[in-house]
Amino acid sequence: MTTEPGDAGGSYQRVKSAGLDTVHGAILYLDDITVSFDGFKALNKLSLDISVGELRCIIGPNGAGKTTMMDVITGKTRPSSGTAFFGQTIDLSRMTEYDIAHAGIGRKFQRPTVFEQHTVFENLELAMKMDKRVRPTLWFRLSSEQKGRIDEVLKLIRLHGNETRLAGLLSHGQKQWLEIGMLLMQEPQLILLDEPVAGMSDAETARTAELLNELRGKHSIMVVEHDMGFVTEIAQGGKVTVLHEGAVLAEGTMQQVQADERVIEVYLGR
Ligand code: ADP
Ligand code: MG
Repeated sequence: MTTEPGDAGGSYQRVKSAGLDTVHGAILYLDDITVSFDGFKALNKLSLDISVGELRCIIGPNGAGKTTMMDVITGKTRPSSGTAFFGQTIDLSRMTEYDIAHAGIGRKFQRPTVFEQHTVFENLELAMKMDKRVRPTLWFRLSSEQKGRIDEVLKLIRLHGNETRLAGLLSHGQKQWLEIGMLLMQEPQLILLDEPVAGMSDAETARTAELLNELRGKHSIMVVEHDMGFVTEIAQGGKVTVLHEGAVLAEGTMQQVQADERVIEVYLGR
């Protein structure tokens, strides 16, 4: 999709599905995906799909294959078998990591990777400049719409008033929010977050839940997290998927999976 005059200000108010063919509103299809590492199946016939605008929580024990699933979606790991589609027509298994990122899948790793020597504002600006649609030139100047968008993201990530601070001086939680903001600047259609609240204080975790609830419906989001209080806050009535031994063990509302005997057995405990 292209940036049109006047589009930038409220642009992330809408779910980004323009230019992406989707069937029955699904943005991501994983079908029968197997990933083998020297014979060990990190993913074992995993099938899962995500709807446009959905906020899907993924839980499951360590080693269940959650990160490997994100590696497959982003092209970091190739499946031994199975299919992975972004929308109806984009075959992720044939694309490089770079092309997948530019097709509109944004990923946040557990450790924040902000530019510590730059200010908060500059980090967001740099994320925007790296966007393929904005040609970075020596004479690049932000338009008022682009400044407006940065302002909007600053508010969303709770860093308004901190724009001139060096990113290196932020707390761990603030760095995580800044990185989410940098992802948002690139307007991804699908956002993957791997353990976003790991290492956060309780207050930061609560604010991150608020942030994700504000993004609900505006982006399609997949969140892997262990913090069950946090998952309960963001799952609301939506679907939670439980992975175990590389496959889907259970899927349903938070209440449904919490009441599932197999889930209690392998993950939640008694
Ligand atoms: P999770 O994120 O759910 O904790 P992972 O996807 O990181 O699980 O790992 C799933 C399983 O695959 C684990 O047993 C892990 O040791 C194994 N694994 C992950 N990556 C590799 C790799 N590059 N080589 C070998 N084994 C791996
Ligand atoms: Mg992991």
